[in-house]
Amino acid sequence: MPVAVIDKRIIVALDYPDQSAVLNFADSVSPDLCRLKIGKEVFSHSGPDVVKALVERGFDVFLDLKFHDIPSTVAKAVSAALDLGVWMLNVHALGGSRMMAAAREALEHQGGDARLIAVTVLTSMQDSDLAELGMPMPVTELASRLAGLAKQCGLHGVVCSAQEAGAISGQWGEAFLRVTPGIRPSGFLSADDQRRTLSPAQAIAAGSSYLVIGRPVTQSKDPVATLLAIKKEIGEDASGG
Ligand code: C5P
Repeated sequence: MPVAVIDKRIIVALDYPDQSAVLNFADSVSPDLCRLKIGKEVFSHSGPDVVKALVERGFDVFLDLKFHDIPSTVAKAVSAALDLGVWMLNVHALGGSRMMAAAREALEHQGGDARLIAVTVLTSMQDSDLAELGMPMPVTELASRLAGLAKQCGLHGVVCSAQEAGAISGQWGEAFLRVTPGIRPSGFLSADDQRRTLSPAQAIAAGSSYLVIGRPVTQSKDPVATLLAIKKEIGEDASGG
């Protein structure tokens, strides 16, 4: 599946407790500056309306619901998400190849140019967490293996740590997207619950296609100024893409 040239690499994760906070942020930035991510917290309390409101304002919306279920349920969920006009959506690679293929078929059936990606290993997890789950292998190895499976299933890319992005693009090609959370700008001291973090510039140098950044922006005193500073750090023009 073809993918467009990468610009506007920052995806702000709007993990706010209510819809008005989400819309306040959206109304303070231009869709030319960044893309926006809606995850489980906002979607669980505000539902599809908040996604539609952002799409109507002209934003590219990444709906991060990490679908992980039997193939037919995931396929129907993908179709419903695409009806909202999202730019990107995701499934869990651990749902397996039949589930990912069903998601891709739903996307193809619907048409359009939304990107379908797979979560490999959550950036909050480290090797000891995998061992606890009965998967005694390095996170990097599992992430790379799951990325290969996603690629075989015809997905556009993966969510992974920036620390794994270079290996994944080396193995599965530059066009295969690496969307990387766990970004912590210099000066932002807390890793929060993230374990495998890099700064924005380090993440780009390591091979990230898009940077998912939440709390460092949303919890800063001046979220827009922080966003602009990060754009400058990665060499993006603050007046647009
Ligand atoms: O606040 P922070 O920058 O840590 O936010 C990261 C965002 O990326 C959160 O919305 C989280 O749900 C999401 N995410 C993640 N790791 C993944 C997939 C998504 O942190 N593997």
